[in-house]
Amino acid sequence: MKNYSAYLIDLDGTMYRGKEVIAEARQFIEHLQANGIPYRYVTNNSSRTPEDTAKKLQNFGIEASVEQIVTASMAAAAHIKSHFPEARAFAIGERGLTDALKEVGIEIVEESPDVVIMGIDRENNYKKLRNACLYVQQGAEFLATNPDIKVPTEKGLVPGNGAFIKLVENVTGVEPTVIGKPKRHMIDFALEQIGANAEDTIMVGDNYDTDILAGMEAGLDTLHVHTGVTTLDEIKNKDRRPTYSIETLEEWFK
Ligand SMILES: [Mg+2]
Repeated sequence: MKNYSAYLIDLDGTMYRGKEVIAEARQFIEHLQANGIPYRYVTNNSSRTPEDTAKKLQNFGIEASVEQIVTASMAAAAHIKSHFPEARAFAIGERGLTDALKEVGIEIVEESPDVVIMGIDRENNYKKLRNACLYVQQGAEFLATNPDIKVPTEKGLVPGNGAFIKLVENVTGVEPTVIGKPKRHMIDFALEQIGANAEDTIMVGDNYDTDILAGMEAGLDTLHVHTGVTTLDEIKNKDRRPTYSIETLEEWFK
C-alpha cells in the first residue's frame, strides 16, 4: 500500500448509512486527523449546504469542518465562475445550490439567463422545467450538479436530479455538462481546494459507478469499501477495477 498524501472521501455508504454511523469510518478519520493527512468529503448531494453536511458528520462524532466539505453545487458554481465569468444563471435547486452560486458572485435570474444549472429541487414544478427547456433552446449553457437518476429511501426509490435532467435533455436534445461523480469536475475541484496532486491522492467510496469511476476519470488511485452500494463480488466482474477493494475501512490502516 502506497502512502497517500491526501484523501477524498464519499459520505453515504462510506461514512454512514442513512441515520447510522459506520464505526470503522469514524476510526479511519481519527487516523487521518491524528497523522495530519489532509482530506475532503466529496458529495453529489446538491441540496445541503456544507454547513448542513459538516453538522451531520459532527453529530455522528466524525471530525469535519465546513472547509472539508466539497459539494457538487460548490464545484458547479466554481465551474460556471471560471468558464462563464459574467454569466447570469437560472437555477433549479435548493439552498445548497443557490448559496453556492451567490458565494462566488453569480447572479441568479428568472429570465434571459446565460446558464441553466440544475440540482435536485423538491419544490420543482412544470413552470421551472418548462423555463429550463426554453432557456436551453435559446442557447443558455446547460449544466447539472449530479446525474443520479434515483435515490434509495426506506420506502423505495425516489427521483433524483438525473431524472429531471433527462426530462430537459429529452425535450431539448441538449446534454448537460455534469459536475458531480462519476464525472471528474468535482474531484478536480476538491484537489484544487486541498492543493494536492492526483497521483498522490486516493478516492474512497462505496459506489463503483460514481465514486470509483470519478476517481479513475480524474487519475486518482481508488479505494472501494464494501459498506454501501457495490459488493466485492460485483467489483470482481469489472473490467477496470479499483486500486484496492476492502470489506470495511478498519482494514486500511492496519
Ligand atoms: Mg456513497
